[in-house]
Amino acid sequence: MEKLNSSIDRSWIDKWNQPFILSGPCSAESEQQILETANRLNPSYVQAFRAGIWKPRTKPNNFEGIGKKGLEWLHKVKNSTGLMVATEVANAEHVKLSISFGIDILWIGARSTASPFTIQEIADALELEGANNKIILVKNPIHPDMELWIGALERLLRKGIRKLGVIHRGFYTYKNSKYRNQPNWNLLLNFRSLLPRIPILCDPSHICGNKEGILDIAKKAYHFQYEGLMIESHCDPDHAWSDAQQQITPENLLEMLKELTYIEKCDQKSERHLDSFRILIDELDENLIALLSERMNISKKLGSLKRSSDIAIFQPRRWKDIMKKSLTLGKSLGISEEFIEGVFKLLHQESIKIQNQIK
Ligand code: PEP
Ligand code: MN
Repeated sequence: MEKLNSSIDRSWIDKWNQPFILSGPCSAESEQQILETANRLNPSYVQAFRAGIWKPRTKPNNFEGIGKKGLEWLHKVKNSTGLMVATEVANAEHVKLSISFGIDILWIGARSTASPFTIQEIADALELEGANNKIILVKNPIHPDMELWIGALERLLRKGIRKLGVIHRGFYTYKNSKYRNQPNWNLLLNFRSLLPRIPILCDPSHICGNKEGILDIAKKAYHFQYEGLMIESHCDPDHAWSDAQQQITPENLLEMLKELTYIEKCDQKSERHLDSFRILIDELDENLIALLSERMNISKKLGSLKRSSDIAIFQPRRWKDIMKKSLTLGKSLGISEEFIEGVFKLLHQESIKIQNQIK
């Protein structure tokens, strides 16, 4: 871990004295779409242009990317705008082709980071292509496993790749969540304390899954001193072939970036710690509410079953059992008995009320 931290080459990001902004469409669709989007991005605020060429789709029968010809369009963007260009790679062939078209930044997607075989294949291919000077950005794995994420960085480092960075794009959640991928600021704070030198970018587009939440997530990222953002932009977001709901126009992006620059200037350093704790508490509260909603939904189903089977709603033995288990668990986690008792009485009352309302 120490080796990883001390070997990181930050020159690619440190040379900008402003946040590093990587923007462009989720997917490359046509030459016209790529060139128009790139030309409408403001180069005073944006350093690199992104477009997915090979798209990892959860389900088959969706648009899976334009493939190799998209790399030619990215190459044109690089020559005509001077922006660096970036795409996602998920296997050795992607690496080879991207390098041959002069792609500057390769990012590894969340699904790939979760697979050590895939990471090893990418690292080997980078070595084979003599491409260890490229900037490689590693998105967090789908699930919050920090070791797996760090392991991916170590595999790349072992092949001499030092221009590394990571992207926080949120984590899969099975619960009701207002996010497409739940952010985990606390995990990222731990990540930073383990690896303080690695640049951290945030991808509010894939965290939110909509346009409306992007600015708020970007503000939080700046608050935690992330060094940049990856935000999806498209010349015609409503007609995008993938992730249409979350893409914004280059002009909307510029407005956001201007607001963020202003906020950064006004950010009171003295209040920063207080606000950090508030963000972490708000995140936990959101999770608690999602869990409460899930618990009450199960209570409803349980209530219907009890009704149809003619079983009494209130089951004293089961209630005693829940309380006993919760008190023991609470104690082992340092929570007072009185508090657990109060919370579980409320939960139980609400659950009984919900079950009684079922006809
Ligand atoms: C993307 O950036 O378009 C993408 C597929 O991201 P992720 O790997 O974060 O899902
Ligand atoms: Mn996308």
